[in-house]
Amino acid sequence: MGSGFGGIGMAVYLRRAGIPFVILEKAASLGGTWRDNAYPGAGCDVPSYLYSFSFAARTNWPRAFGSQAEILAYLQAVAREFGLEPHIRYGFDVKRASFDESRSRWSLESAGGEAEEADVVVSACGLLHRPAIPSIAGLDGFAGTWFHSARWPRGERPEGCVAVVGTGASAIQIVPELAREAEHVTLFQRSAPYVIPKPDRVHSTRERTALARFGPLRRLLRAAIYLKYEARALAFVVAPELMNLYAADFRRRLRTNVADPHLRARLQPNDPMGCKRILLSNDYYAALGRENVSLVTAPIERIDRDAIVTADGARHRADTIVFATGFTATDFLAPMEVVGRDGRRLAAVWQGGAEAYFGMSVAGFPNFFVLYGPNTNLGHNSIVYMLESQMRYVMRALFAMQRLRLRSVEVLPQVQERFNVRLQRAMRRTVWERGCASWYKAPSGKGTTNWPGFTFAYRRATSRFDPARYRLDSMAG
Ligand SMILES: Cc1cc2nc3c(=O)[nH]c(=O)nc-3n(C[C@H](O)[C@H](O)[C@H](O)COP(=O)(O)OP(=O)(O)OC[C@H]3O[C@@H](n4cnc5c(N)ncnc54)[C@H](O)[C@@H]3O)c2cc1C
Repeated sequence: MGSGFGGIGMAVYLRRAGIPFVILEKAASLGGTWRDNAYPGAGCDVPSYLYSFSFAARTNWPRAFGSQAEILAYLQAVAREFGLEPHIRYGFDVKRASFDESRSRWSLESAGGEAEEADVVVSACGLLHRPAIPSIAGLDGFAGTWFHSARWPRGERPEGCVAVVGTGASAIQIVPELAREAEHVTLFQRSAPYVIPKPDRVHSTRERTALARFGPLRRLLRAAIYLKYEARALAFVVAPELMNLYAADFRRRLRTNVADPHLRARLQPNDPMGCKRILLSNDYYAALGRENVSLVTAPIERIDRDAIVTADGARHRADTIVFATGFTATDFLAPMEVVGRDGRRLAAVWQGGAEAYFGMSVAGFPNFFVLYGPNTNLGHNSIVYMLESQMRYVMRALFAMQRLRLRSVEVLPQVQERFNVRLQRAMRRTVWERGCASWYKAPSGKGTTNWPGFTFAYRRATSRFDPARYRLDSMAG
């Protein structure tokens, strides 16, 4: 289910192994995140030579960090290279997936009434996929245009007064772009983010030629980027005190970048650094210093026909409202109805906060694997690296099923439980537990999105599928 990095990569592994598959994709084209987030300035925070599949290297990325258009084109090229298009059923929005124990088969139903069956289901529906739009009184009566950053109308370049709600990763990419063209941009901030420089640059012709020609050079660059990013995990998950060094550097830069002391005071984050996502930009602070940009920190009270009204009574005129308010990350597979053994519902099992074994397997849901599932998100490195670890694990599970002639595998509840007790223990010493509210946490306060360790440790731990940790049902006869 899904044709973003997760679904496309999984399909390549299945195709190479000769295992028949179908990709069910609710949209009309592939690409996931990089299809949906086509707002002005959209791009990646991890250099492209790392934020790409290890098995499908693009040899000539034009610059260090890929833009949305470049990454989408890359995914389309991978799908073409591996002949995946004929395997994708577009417009199939999986509404319900249910396991029939007697036949060991999953039935999948779409919102449009279509059906599909499978022995094994791999969910690659993404974590940052369903837009979170705050419920604000009066939005229905707003006379202008409004949309979420992940639903940006194609080609739309708002010119009048534009309100941007939110100061997360998307907002800091959008605001500098809008500021160049719009009459006025009003940015509504609830909490100030830590924004650090993005070491982006164009690759010179010589670099591109050398990287295109020499595979080992590309692999060396990929490894170097990986190590540089992975080293940051130390401050996130091992010794959060190290963040104080980065925070001191941040404050020094903020003093240099924002001359106006009043504006600077409002841009000083209140949370410990790293507790929420650290953002990368070279033009965000400069944009906020422009005459046609204003920063509003008073809470939004309501929306009128032509303005946003804040709690201090001020009216901020708006022709367009952009909600850069992120995604319902901790809801995981919702609103899909996933029904496992004995009629068990995944939504009910995950009510207090989602959890799985390595983020992939859930007790009670045989032959069901989740990519980019609970506790597999990162604050410091490439999600594609995590996804590839997961694809390899799923393949090992499938090979074990073939080898041992199994009709189903289902993680043992005690194995899942032990794993999560350890995981939550590790979570306690991370920077995400230093006392801030963020999309890394479920409403219950449990950290359900992030992996509290090194990515190489995750890869090592998932490099073996151990049948002893699963309930195994053999083929009849
Ligand atoms: C704006 C933005 C910037 C990001 N930047 C970075 C970054 O710099 N570095 C990084 O590592 N990660 C980044 N991420 C995270 C990014 O989501 C992952 O890196 C990666 O793209 C996830 O791929 P995926 O295939 O798991 O999910 P997605 O790309 O979200 O794809 C999920 C797919 O599943 C489909 N789908 C969902 N539900 C259903 C259903 N019920 N039935 C059928 N199909 C369904 C969707 O339509 C979609 O095509 C960013 C995310 C966003 C939103």
